[in-house]
Amino acid sequence: MQSDVERLLETATRDIAEAQGSSRALEQLKVNYLGRKGQLSRLFKQMGQASEVERPIWGKLLNEAKEQLEKAFSIALEESKKEAQKQKPSFDITVPGRRSLKGRLHPITQVVVEISRIFNWLGFEVVEGPEVELDYYNFEALNIPKDHPARDMQDTFYVSDDVVLRTHTSPIQVRVMEARRPPIRVIAPGRTYRCDSDVTHTPMFHQVEGLMVGEDISFGDLKGILTIFVHQMFGEDVGLRFRPSFFPFTEPSAEVDIQCVMCKGQGCRVCSQTGWLEILGSGMVDPEVFKKVGYDPEIFTGFAFGMGIERIAMLKYGIDDLRLFFENDLRFLKQF
Ligand SMILES: [Zn+2]
Repeated sequence: MQSDVERLLETATRDIAEAQGSSRALEQLKVNYLGRKGQLSRLFKQMGQASEVERPIWGKLLNEAKEQLEKAFSIALEESKKEAQKQKPSFDITVPGRRSLKGRLHPITQVVVEISRIFNWLGFEVVEGPEVELDYYNFEALNIPKDHPARDMQDTFYVSDDVVLRTHTSPIQVRVMEARRPPIRVIAPGRTYRCDSDVTHTPMFHQVEGLMVGEDISFGDLKGILTIFVHQMFGEDVGLRFRPSFFPFTEPSAEVDIQCVMCKGQGCRVCSQTGWLEILGSGMVDPEVFKKVGYDPEIFTGFAFGMGIERIAMLKYGIDDLRLFFENDLRFLKQF
């Protein structure tokens, strides 16, 4: 019996040394040696075969062996736990945290907000209209019949013979006038579409339309409102000029140029050395348009204007490539 116990202790010591570092292996070994059906229990059971004289000696021997094994396992398990703790990746509380990305408004949206703010302040209400529009509102009601040469100026996306993607925000003028009676003061920002794509054109772009109608609105009001707008948008010291032009839905019509914001009117590449930049089209609402919506042109007068929002944003922020607005590169967008 003594040699059995010695052999058991010997193999147990070797096994524990081999399993060192693995808590799972150690736990398994512990069951093998000290469990109810383990090797030591088996020796305890054999005690029954011993004589009465031998039994207490065996008992003492086995109890000592049990104690020794329990101690050996508890030390080994403690060690392997410490080892595992050491190998865990350490957590450095002094490392700066990762900042979450903050969203912001797209520069085009920012310009829409700014334009809306200025015109709200001048008493204009912001209205919207459909992007898929009837040919009637996009062209005919604006004095552009089917055979009108002005249709060639706008490369239109046709959905069907009578339905188009609106080529400008002007149809909203007609919709507003149909639904209301003067006085009217509205602006209508939104997306517009033309089959056109190069460095300075994209198939989808943004415009803002303005309309003011009342009983004695004059060209002077148009000049006054647009002058205030330009000064608010680009600065009090920016000069502007009105140049005669033609649009089918206004008469007389004028294009508005501002002094080049890049060279302050000295002449540069952006303004083709002229010192001026065209920013919008405008004019007095054509009596033909008033007749279409049932307004008496003898009583009511008004003006309308329209501008490209990308163009305003490019001039305001000094951007020379239109495509940057649509590529959505975060390095670009983060600057606004
Ligand atoms: Zn210039």
